[in-house]
Amino acid sequence: MESNPPVSRVVTIVGTRPEAIKMIPVIHELQRRPFVAPFVLATGQHRDLVAPLFAQAGITIDAELELHRRGSDLSELIIAVMEGTSQVLTSLKSDDPTTGLPFTAAVMVHGDTSSAMAGAVAAMAHQIPVMHVEAGLRTRDWWQPWPEELNRQIIGRIAAMHYAPTTTNLGNLIREAISEKRTLITGNTGIDALMWATAQPAVFEDERIVEMMDASRKLVVVTAHRRESWGAGLDGVAAGVAAAALELGDVNFVVPMHPNPKVRESLQPALRDIPNVTLTEPLDYVPFAHLLKRADLVVTDSGGIQEEAPSFDVPVLVCREETERKEGVDAGTLLLVGTDRDVIRKNIVNLLTDPAAYLRMADSPNPYGDGKASLRIGQSLAHLARLGPPPIPFGPGYSRTAVLEAAGYGRYVRAGSYLRPEGWLPPEQGEWFDEPESLKDRLEVAYHRFSDAQEPPQHRRNTVISPEDAWHALRQARRMSDPPPVSQMWHELVSTLTPGSLRDTLETARAAMDDATRRGPLASGEDDAP
Ligand code: UDP
Repeated sequence: MESNPPVSRVVTIVGTRPEAIKMIPVIHELQRRPFVAPFVLATGQHRDLVAPLFAQAGITIDAELELHRRGSDLSELIIAVMEGTSQVLTSLKSDDPTTGLPFTAAVMVHGDTSSAMAGAVAAMAHQIPVMHVEAGLRTRDWWQPWPEELNRQIIGRIAAMHYAPTTTNLGNLIREAISEKRTLITGNTGIDALMWATAQPAVFEDERIVEMMDASRKLVVVTAHRRESWGAGLDGVAAGVAAAALELGDVNFVVPMHPNPKVRESLQPALRDIPNVTLTEPLDYVPFAHLLKRADLVVTDSGGIQEEAPSFDVPVLVCREETERKEGVDAGTLLLVGTDRDVIRKNIVNLLTDPAAYLRMADSPNPYGDGKASLRIGQSLAHLARLGPPPIPFGPGYSRTAVLEAAGYGRYVRAGSYLRPEGWLPPEQGEWFDEPESLKDRLEVAYHRFSDAQEPPQHRRNTVISPEDAWHALRQARRMSDPPPVSQMWHELVSTLTPGSLRDTLETARAAMDDATRRGPLASGEDDAP
């Protein structure tokens, strides 16, 4: 069927670094599809950050706008992108058959930047359909985040096709009377990008970060730059991180600073003189992905990082009053802490000194994606062009939490984990509500913790999985560059587990966790004991 399909142009518009990151796997996917002629338009919003990233990903920028901006005036940017995009789309017009240019079938924009919004408006003016990647995120508060919330709502009105990362995002679109028939739940392409990035070799230009990557000390990664927090908000974040760093002298804090001077005005005075805080220039994405994988905790107001960190079981403190990433809050992997100094300090210290609190956040599957979002987008384009079957959406299409809450089981499922007292489902309520894979994953990391002791597997069936064990196992597993291999012994362990013994094992784990919660944080020195 695909022998000689007509080739159509799909223009992707990219302005900022986060958009570039999340569009890399989409552009790679378009490049793989023979019926698509991809055309990459960079608006120049983050010119210096986007070009090297695309170069590393082997992506050629086909057109780049010349933005002559004097400051951070948003209206100037919007006007310039609309005008520039419109000119590029005009130059690509193939009404005249002698040009031999492929027909521009779609413009693809991502997320909520002013580049994406202005690009979508320009495409609309040219009557070119807009496909929106990362559609349906909403806070419903125009001012948080500003201008992103308005940008994505505007794109939502224009788009012909909405690629929503999650079921929640789809729900938001439906509430705005967008037909479900023009949507696909894909997972977030940022997770695809992260997998691509951590498979690349990481080069750190800053020697101090190389040392931190190798050190045994705990590592906290901090980023903060939101426009709506400029001034008092960012001052609060900086003061909270500073207070936590002074209190936790044996923990390293690394703060890649956004280039915007307004951001640096807040971060530098509060943090530059603290010995265990390293202020750096923004890291390139690939090393940053490796840094996230190594981190023990992330403190951020960034949108993308809230989705990325859970892929590495790293808890995230979100320095915003609102988040459009509600799935992570429900799953327990994100905690909203706002920008108040004391709240931020308290939560950083709590998570790094209380293993049970840490595990409650770290041990959740990533609700944002499985690394196949771009593939689904490619399949959907093929399907729309009558060149292939429809894609299978990400996730079940409903929210388990929402359904079970409506069914009256909310208090058992909210935390979504066996290893949490409040997430425990009593046996009489029926079988487990969690996916067997994630259960296996958790047991596997705990098993690795025990694999030094040379006992035969049958003796381990009812081994206690204590929070300390799981804590170490999680940290250890994250530091390995490859996922730990499933050992022969692990296979034996799983194959000898009956539902009864599995339940016993987990019951024991729960009791151990309750016990550890009562006993309080690990004493120093106990940290590395087997
Ligand atoms: N990021 C990066 N280097 C850094 C900080 C962030 O490559 O020093 C990446 C991060 O992994 C994520 C994206 O940039 O993919 C998020 O960008 P940002 O926080 O600027 O924006 P947001 O997601 O809030 O729009």
